[in-house]
Amino acid sequence: MSNTRTTGIDFLLDLNERHSRAFMDLSSERRRYRGEHPTEIAALKCMDGRLHLPVMTQTALGIIQPFRNLGGKFDLGWPFFQVIIEQWVQYSISRGRHCLVFVTYHYARGDTHRGCRGFNYDTNAAKDAAVKLKDQFIRVYGKGAVVPIVCGIETDLDALILHGEDDHSVVDLAKIKQSSQLELEEMLYSLYPQCLKELCEI
Ligand SMILES: [Zn+2]
Repeated sequence: MSNTRTTGIDFLLDLNERHSRAFMDLSSERRRYRGEHPTEIAALKCMDGRLHLPVMTQTALGIIQPFRNLGGKFDLGWPFFQVIIEQWVQYSISRGRHCLVFVTYHYARGDTHRGCRGFNYDTNAAKDAAVKLKDQFIRVYGKGAVVPIVCGIETDLDALILHGEDDHSVVDLAKIKQSSQLELEEMLYSLYPQCLKELCEI
């Protein structure tokens, strides 16, 4: 019995050490990335374990700051959430960085029941909640240093679905054929003309 317990604890300690080492090994990659892209990125998302943005976006661990809750449901009226977001925003500003907030919902294109349990698999309800939260960020922080965008996470193909700032245009990145830097920039400008204009003016 005590043997099993020791083994279990050893396993967890070893796992912790390996994760910690993997994170530290990426520190120069994080520095390089931040030098190139002076933007702090946060992702508000469901606690569903499939939503691993560093893997989907191929960015080093620690670049995207995750905030998780059931269904990705948050409200800036919640005092604790308000405090941690405000601390994150102030930290970014103190470093002279812009703040990009991915307000996410998730679903699976192959089967509704692989979608979000937190919204009873109702993807439209999850999407509406994300749009509402994005609007709340705009009301609280105005337009400028903090840019919230709505983003679907499709877990069958590990694809991101970008929702434009007009709440109508949608781009499923799994279906994008363009791959040149210029074509991707053009796509982003058409989705976020106002946001990018403001970011460039700061
Ligand atoms: Zn979920």
